[in-house]
Amino acid sequence: MKTSKQDLLKETGRAGPYGGRYVPEVLMPALTRLENEAVRLLGDARFQAELTGILEEWVGRPTPLTRAGRLGEAWGGQVWLKREDLAHTGAHKINNAVGQALLAREMGASRVIAETGAGQHGVASAAACARLGLECTVYMGAVDIERQAPNVERMKLLGTKVVPVQSGDATLRAAINEAMRDWVADPESTYYLLGSAVGPHPYPWLVREIQSVIGKEARAQFQAATAGLPDVVVACVGGGSNAIGIFHPFVEDEDVALLGVEAGGSGGAVGENAATIVRGKPGVLHGSYSYLLHDEDGQVFETHSVSAGLDYPGVGPEHAFLSESGRAEYIEATDDQALQALDELARTEGILAALESSHALAGAKRYLQENPGASVLVGLSGRGDKDIDILRELKR
Ligand SMILES: *Cc1c(COP(=O)(O)O)cnc(C)c1O
Repeated sequence: MKTSKQDLLKETGRAGPYGGRYVPEVLMPALTRLENEAVRLLGDARFQAELTGILEEWVGRPTPLTRAGRLGEAWGGQVWLKREDLAHTGAHKINNAVGQALLAREMGASRVIAETGAGQHGVASAAACARLGLECTVYMGAVDIERQAPNVERMKLLGTKVVPVQSGDATLRAAINEAMRDWVADPESTYYLLGSAVGPHPYPWLVREIQSVIGKEARAQFQAATAGLPDVVVACVGGGSNAIGIFHPFVEDEDVALLGVEAGGSGGAVGENAATIVRGKPGVLHGSYSYLLHDEDGQVFETHSVSAGLDYPGVGPEHAFLSESGRAEYIEATDDQALQALDELARTEGILAALESSHALAGAKRYLQENPGASVLVGLSGRGDKDIDILRELKR
């Protein structure tokens, strides 16, 4: 497939102008060591065999590719779902958590730290660390701890220490800042398990490599089922890890369109959405240069989305590059469009998608309106059980 082209993100830490390593001096040695060790271990057959083994026997990979026949009929095309909702802990995040936790163990880290917003990455990290016998601490905004009580309980049951963050907005952004502060204090023996394809190099590359298992499986499964490739691959984009994971193995397939769907929230005004590529402009956040929702003075905007996992003002640097180069297109789906798509999938296919994943479904629906009869591969990043309380509120 694609051994011919140079992997600039891996080699230089940048995709076009995006990416880089904008961190305090004290973290540079830790990031350089992580880069060297990640390159070495991901290229190591024994490490890969162990990771694959855990993904198969514990995570439940490969996840199925499901043809959504009734939904396709309703939307006027072929819809195929890559079922990350069926992965252990209910979303794609476990792939990254277990991959990096294994890396942490191999690097001899004595503890793992992570940050979490809605709690999904915290739960995935807690589970992976328990499985591998690693001590785990998760930073979480005090506001989010209130809003996401069941996930806090899950993390605790899995043996993880949850640290409330009161500073700043007391949500994900503050939690990331706090995790970075912890890491600065002891970058040698602490491993920072970052939850999406964001942050300083090597994280965007590392997370993409681990999450590419989604796209590799989906591409092979699609070919086995149809003897061809889809017209388009669609995924929701928060930080961008599930999207880059399913896109990456298709990047060289020029006839396959790539469509990222961001959170259009309740509208286009500042604070009403989290559509970073659609509505943002370049800037630096959490250690890397990418698109960002901010003003001329660098003040980062508040964001809103009905789905907590997409409620982030930044996006992974490789998406900024794929957008600018025209290889992938990014659109937004509003809260209402996502909720509508969630209902339609549930009633035609018997699958309750996560609110995040429902944005990808809304994007697929729109694509089929513009390209009737097309075949669409949708990254169904997670299951909707976690969203039941929000759905109950909204449907009152
Ligand atoms: C966290 C989450 C997302 C968003 O994260 P990405 O890094 O953009 O993939 C999407 N879907 C689900 C189910 C999530 O839990």
